[in-house]
Amino acid sequence: MALVVQKYGGTSVGDIEKISHVAKRVKRARDAGHDVVVVVSAMAGETNRLVDLCRQVMNQPDPREYDVVVSTGEQVVVGLLSMALKKAGQDAISLLGHQVAIHTDNSHTRARIARITDGKIRENLKAGRVVIVPGFQGVNEKGDITTLGRGGSDTSAVALAAALNADTCEIYTDVEGIFTTDPNVVPEAVKIPRISYDEMLEMASLGAKVLQIRSVEFAKKYDVPLHVRSTFSEAEGTWVTREDREMEKVVVSGVTFEKNEAKVSIRHVPDHPGIAARIFGAIADAGINVDMIIQNISHDGFTDMTFTVPKGDLEDALSIVRPIADEIGAKGILTDDKVAKVSIVGTGMRSHSGIASRMFQALADDGINIQMISTSEIKVSCVIESKYTELAVRVLHNAFDLGGDSV
Ligand code: ADP
Ligand code: ASP
Ligand code: MG
Repeated sequence: MALVVQKYGGTSVGDIEKISHVAKRVKRARDAGHDVVVVVSAMAGETNRLVDLCRQVMNQPDPREYDVVVSTGEQVVVGLLSMALKKAGQDAISLLGHQVAIHTDNSHTRARIARITDGKIRENLKAGRVVIVPGFQGVNEKGDITTLGRGGSDTSAVALAAALNADTCEIYTDVEGIFTTDPNVVPEAVKIPRISYDEMLEMASLGAKVLQIRSVEFAKKYDVPLHVRSTFSEAEGTWVTREDREMEKVVVSGVTFEKNEAKVSIRHVPDHPGIAARIFGAIADAGINVDMIIQNISHDGFTDMTFTVPKGDLEDALSIVRPIADEIGAKGILTDDKVAKVSIVGTGMRSHSGIASRMFQALADDGINIQMISTSEIKVSCVIESKYTELAVRVLHNAFDLGGDSV
């Protein structure tokens, strides 16, 4: 008998029929003799609707109240699924974030899980119940509801699996696993049977929203094997685990894209020690994540500096950078939010040369201009004009032979 955590995403619980289907799948695991903890998302589209309601009232919603509103989508689903299970003859109970409890820090809208108390879950499992927990929500030390950032139900599931020392954590979604790129953009994308935590971390951080990045960080830290698979099929999905010998030895495992970034260029910045620290220190103090940074070679003691931030943080970043640019005598700020980042990821890059140039050539062959480049041991990213995103993803998928029979 195993302890299994199953997480069902928004499209998997999108209507009552789908919730009944999920109830059947959960009951099957229970009938096979397993203890089952289920984590659910809000119905597809519901969290977006709730975010939109908040924004209609306040342009920059109050973070505490935002969490009160947007966490409700999951609450509806835990109650409905619990009823569906009872109707199917399986005892079940829903426990909200504060009832479990899933303790987080105080950063509303992007809280981090600090600790989970598991007594209440274990009590209910012992009594033969399926325990259903809303993803995405937690409680801070004041007793206020917090949320974990978009896509955070994945993290709730993995953190619960780690806390309960579960045998497996199954992530049920609307695709059959992790693919070489988003299968909804490139139909030729191929399912990857096994992928390492490190590769998945890169893919998630570079835009593959199939798993929230923090969920992969948790899985790696606590060595929780994840099985990402489809709610609507029986096919084996993708195992996300420690790197092992059985993993396919490919140089590039996947292609990702991120459309949610904006580019800021500060022109004619004095090339002195301390200037970069001043600019990026102030941005960091505001809690804004800067992604890529490029500083050009200096001419006559001046240089241009370009960096990217999430689109949603562009205005805040500008309000911080403008006064500093004035003070240091920069010659202006240019912004561009019609950019996207495309990336190739693969641990095999560590031992191969020529991968970046192959990527640049493939983009060039299709007339796609590269605006910025960044590399790490296991990825290469390029910022391009956003209207070319899908084309670039297809081109790179082809250039590295990731499609169909070639894998
Ligand atoms: P859920 O609601 O189940 O959490 P998400 O929409 O958050 O589902 O994540 C699943 C989606 O992730 C897929 O429908 C797919 O479009 C997208 N996706 C992006 N990159 C990949 C990838 N490399 N492999 C699989 N899915 C991907
Ligand atoms: N419902 C939340 C969202 O849409 C959390 C999740 O689905 O993982 O972001
Ligand atoms: Mg998701």
